[in-house]
Amino acid sequence: MFRRVLIANRGEIALRILRACHELGIEVVCVYSDADRDAPYLRLADRAICIGGAPAKDSYLNISRIISAAEIADVDAIHPGYGFLAERADFAEVCRDCKVEFIGPSPEAMRLLGDKVDAKKTAKAAKVPIFPGSDGAIEDEDEAVEVAAKIGYPLIIKAAAGGGGRGMRVCRNEASLRSNIRGAQQEALAAFGNGAVFIEKFLERARHVEVQVIGDKHGHAVHLFERDCSLQRRHQKIIEEAPAPGVDRKKLNAVCESAARLIKAAQYAGAATVEFLMDDEQNFSMLEVNTRVQVEHPVTEMVTGTDIVKLSIQVAAGEPLPFRQRDVRLSGHAIECRINAEDPDRNFMPSAGTITTWHPPGGPGVRLDSHVVTGYRVPPNYDSMVGKLIVHAEDRVSCIRRMERSLHEFEVGPIKTTIPLHRRLMQDAAFEHGGVDIHYLERTLK
Ligand code: ADP
Repeated sequence: MFRRVLIANRGEIALRILRACHELGIEVVCVYSDADRDAPYLRLADRAICIGGAPAKDSYLNISRIISAAEIADVDAIHPGYGFLAERADFAEVCRDCKVEFIGPSPEAMRLLGDKVDAKKTAKAAKVPIFPGSDGAIEDEDEAVEVAAKIGYPLIIKAAAGGGGRGMRVCRNEASLRSNIRGAQQEALAAFGNGAVFIEKFLERARHVEVQVIGDKHGHAVHLFERDCSLQRRHQKIIEEAPAPGVDRKKLNAVCESAARLIKAAQYAGAATVEFLMDDEQNFSMLEVNTRVQVEHPVTEMVTGTDIVKLSIQVAAGEPLPFRQRDVRLSGHAIECRINAEDPDRNFMPSAGTITTWHPPGGPGVRLDSHVVTGYRVPPNYDSMVGKLIVHAEDRVSCIRRMERSLHEFEVGPIKTTIPLHRRLMQDAAFEHGGVDIHYLERTLK
């Protein structure tokens, strides 16, 4: 096992990884930017090193500064968390060159699954359900029109290297397809340094269902069942839950098994998420693979009794997965609400500042993953999440009631947060019924 790990991240996920390391008897080196100088979790680290200014490019995205810190502190491994450098194959490669273990997949596996065109090809070979569409990148208008003739409209043009919901165009007829192909290629090249685009069928009304998977370096891969993350705003997930409500368990199991096959085929070691859209008939099509731990991993931990962050560290250290697929069982229901420092009544305007009131909820089945303490100042430089409230109960209805009760206890001020929105959603009839689609939240906010 590693002796000392550097955490190349900040906020709640830095604290989450620190906790896992300490439980495994591993020393922790945290890095921080000027804006996070007073972050309370830094006191829990065995060593904390300032790596630069507040802008992420000067600190959390600065590979040479992070590697220097790793060398100064003499660490065996780096955990990238999510965001920042987590899905940068060049960073994983630099780590390898510097003989520091990157806690995540190999750069090769990351590239294979991170590129949407390559991932779809690998998925097809592994019999993972995918959207009908082009077999690879589209060269020109005529080729696009040929594919469209086979799959029909509406369809969506996407960038092979796309991310963050950018670089996608929906086309409803041939004229719009013809006029959008070139623009999409140029936009992809400018935004991602790779002009490859592909097309696939566009699903009008869908749910977002994703599968948590983990592989080790000995050829084993398992899934830890699925999460439903359909409550989104501008492609950002707001609430996640496990298992997916109201979906046939046999269909879900088949999708979960296909996701495990995919990472096995990619010789993938580490935690990953295979994202799918599900239509009204409960047909699944793969969207993409995220090659890192996700924000919403705790709901899976709650319903499977696993520790995904610890497992990711153990498999990176070369240990085999400590269980087989048949040992993984679903128990009860879990929901996560993302608590963001944003004002839901003023179009989600960011609300940075000092938190003087922070009364977190507690009691049975309640978990709060947060780096915030009373007196914490939310820096304006990074994403606005101040914590994740996760509850677990024996079934979905009790889980919703428990979340409602916990949100009622949760007092944060004077900054504005998304807590009032979550309180409303816990009383929303369509949410309670289960199975809202990915545009539901945006429709109800109007
Ligand atoms: P990114 O990597 O940019 O997040 P994704 O492929 O995950 O891109 O897609 C982001 C979002 O775009 C999805 O969550 C969904 O809302 C929408 N989307 C993508 N592909 C399709 C599709 N084929 N049909 C309908 N919606 C889609």
